[in-house]
Amino acid sequence: MKCIGCPKCNGQLHQVIYQQIEVDRCDHCQGIWFDRLEAEKLKQIKGSESLDKCTKPRNKQRSPVSACPHCHQQMLRMLDIDKHAIWYEKCARCQGIWLEAGQFSQYKQNFTPKGVIDLAKQVLHI
Ligand SMILES: [Zn+2]
Ligand SMILES: [Zn+2]
Repeated sequence: MKCIGCPKCNGQLHQVIYQQIEVDRCDHCQGIWFDRLEAEKLKQIKGSESLDKCTKPRNKQRSPVSACPHCHQQMLRMLDIDKHAIWYEKCARCQGIWLEAGQFSQYKQNFTPKGVIDLAKQVLHI
């Protein structure tokens, strides 16, 4: 089994498989690493927030991230704003993203299909 160090703490990332999609979760800080498009795919799957061990982010202050756990490139800080404002890190090279504990549940609530339908209704005046 491969062992990858957590980009945020001294923990180890462990593979967790949900509906055939594999993510890496830290055994210490519970942050989750998603390979390219995995977070997008998981967002569409009902119940996938169970991957997130924490329902609320523990601390508002994000700890600095070291580098991408896979290609060791510096990661870019990104902001996703919808229902929740979520700061996360994305690797410019492999496009993987890092979400801290509790953030995936929020990420799932952002830009939900329902929101898109509501927006379409507003635009189309239905
Ligand atoms: Zn960690
Ligand atoms: Zn990377």
